[in-house]
Amino acid sequence: NYQVVIAENKKMFNEIQELKGNIRVYCRIRPSVSGKMEKESIVEHVGENDLVVANPSKEGKDAIRSFKFNRVFSSAATQAEVYYDIQDFTRSVLDGYDVCIFAYGQTGSGKTYTMTGPNGATSETIGVNYRALNDLFKISKSRENLVEYEIGVQMVEIYNEQVRDLLISDGSPKKLGILTQSRPNGLAVPDASLFPVKLPSDVIKLMEIGLKNRAIGATAMNERSSRSHSVVSVHVTGKDLKTGCTMVGNLHLVDLAGSERVDRSEVTGDRLKEAQHINKSLSALGDVIFALSQKSSHIPYRNSKLTQLLQTSLGGQAKTLMMVQINSDVSSYSETSSTLKFAERVSGVELGAARSSKEGKDVREMIEQVSQLKSTILAKD
Ligand code: ADP
Ligand code: MG
Repeated sequence: NYQVVIAENKKMFNEIQELKGNIRVYCRIRPSVSGKMEKESIVEHVGENDLVVANPSKEGKDAIRSFKFNRVFSSAATQAEVYYDIQDFTRSVLDGYDVCIFAYGQTGSGKTYTMTGPNGATSETIGVNYRALNDLFKISKSRENLVEYEIGVQMVEIYNEQVRDLLISDGSPKKLGILTQSRPNGLAVPDASLFPVKLPSDVIKLMEIGLKNRAIGATAMNERSSRSHSVVSVHVTGKDLKTGCTMVGNLHLVDLAGSERVDRSEVTGDRLKEAQHINKSLSALGDVIFALSQKSSHIPYRNSKLTQLLQTSLGGQAKTLMMVQINSDVSSYSETSSTLKFAERVSGVELGAARSSKEGKDVREMIEQVSQLKSTILAKD
């Protein structure tokens, strides 16, 4: 019967998820600004999962290092193509999953481009944040006879280990607390403004306020957006109209602070403090994701505000996607190289490689069974 098939289907999906793990790492190569210097590029996209990087100070074979990720996007990839490979993550919040998507990379590597889009973005160039919400609106509409969804948005910034609401109209910085224990309605920062959204235009209005507030900090403290993390949190509740059951899902879209290393000998005062906070929180995030990828029994969430805020959405049944952004020009070699090493570590490849062949087969078999179950369901409809 229908219910049993659905339950089987869901169980099978969870088992596949369990086998594949809930962490994915994608890498996106930013186009060179001038567009002219193909020859000077030190990064080569060699397929859906692979790229190679050449160390400009070495020669021959020694100079080449290859990396493997769940997906590699070339510099020609469009925003739509990138979102296409992300949509399974974002859509699963409608089924009650928690999802985190991070953009990681040095300043200028395209993090904001991927998540938000360029200044004055068009429908072609809008980023993941807008696409995800538009997608959720569309799917929730298609299910309106089955589930009643409510979608709300918060947007906060974490700067120097302090959390600030980006959706307040006067933009005055108020320190906000993070709930670490019980979270009513799943809200980690209950005092940050939460606005209901129903239409793409609601989202555009909110993002405008958020981006403006992020920029206000920038006049006081030059280029602040590259030294803070911004977190757009999409809270979804869905009430099953038949059973009355309610489920809750959270989607966190995170534009991280620039990962570039700051030369300690050259900075002092506020700049040094910022750099230390960024370092600490990015390595805390790396440690948490690495521990999760290794299925470690201790996950060190407590070491930064970022990981505390996202604690209930990282690990367990939650899904995590790290969008790693890199530059391909010679002068970025050292940052590109350290970004890729960070990415390689969080993807936990050491473990994956040893297990892959048998599980690959199991996963393929299960995917086959699921698609058979799906056609059974469709046949009954
Ligand atoms: P970050 O947020 O990592 O500091 P940005 O997203 O601001 O970097 O990108 C730096 C510059 O490069 C911006 O002018 C942005 O519009 C441009 N850019 C980044 N990625 C792309 C891309 N895939 N296609 C076209 N322009 C891009
Ligand atoms: Mg940015």
